[in-house]
Amino acid sequence: MARYIGSVCRLCRRENLKLFLKGDRCYSDKCAFDRRSYPPGQHGQRRRGKISDYGIQLREKQKVKRMYGLSEKQFRLFFKRADQQKGITGTNLLIALETRLDNVVYRIGFVNSRTQGRHFVRHSHFLVNGKKANIPSALVKEGDVITVREKSRNIKAMSDALEAVVRRGVPQWLDLEKENLKGTVKALPVREDLTMPIQEQLIVELYSK
Ligand code: SF4
Repeated sequence: MARYIGSVCRLCRRENLKLFLKGDRCYSDKCAFDRRSYPPGQHGQRRRGKISDYGIQLREKQKVKRMYGLSEKQFRLFFKRADQQKGITGTNLLIALETRLDNVVYRIGFVNSRTQGRHFVRHSHFLVNGKKANIPSALVKEGDVITVREKSRNIKAMSDALEAVVRRGVPQWLDLEKENLKGTVKALPVREDLTMPIQEQLIVELYSK
């Protein structure tokens, strides 16, 4: 699977939005987007020309894909599943992305970014309902309880993340018991819980061509 290995801050500048890919740095005055909020590259500061409808749809898809750190193939798969479900495809897609385990451990505050969440899940630092869980793309369900494994409780990056979560807050569909290193999925998120500026309909239009 092709993996992006360039500067992730370039992605924020490309999408003209803070995607919060670098943990604590994103909230500091070192954030590259806050310093240079124009597209990367030699011609980044040129006036942006008119973008076609296709271009707008493509940028929206790229933005969400990059926000959740997925490859095109993974993102398409999520879209396909969302399209097969009952309900509104765009909403289904966002809710599925939001309930990925790597995102949930980030939202709860066990890690500082989704990328770190993916690494930590892969390295089996968490239990879901008391069982080992090492698949970042696994979806959580209402009532699931996510805990940090005994052997992983002293990882500094995790305690740092738990300190930092105060700044961004835990979404209301999740619950964090900081002292027990325990998170609970109180309910599945609804569209209103997802506050990032996303126009999912544009993604649906793009993939429906
Ligand atoms: Fe994006 Fe974070 Fe880099 Fe800022 S520091 S540009 S929000 S990844």
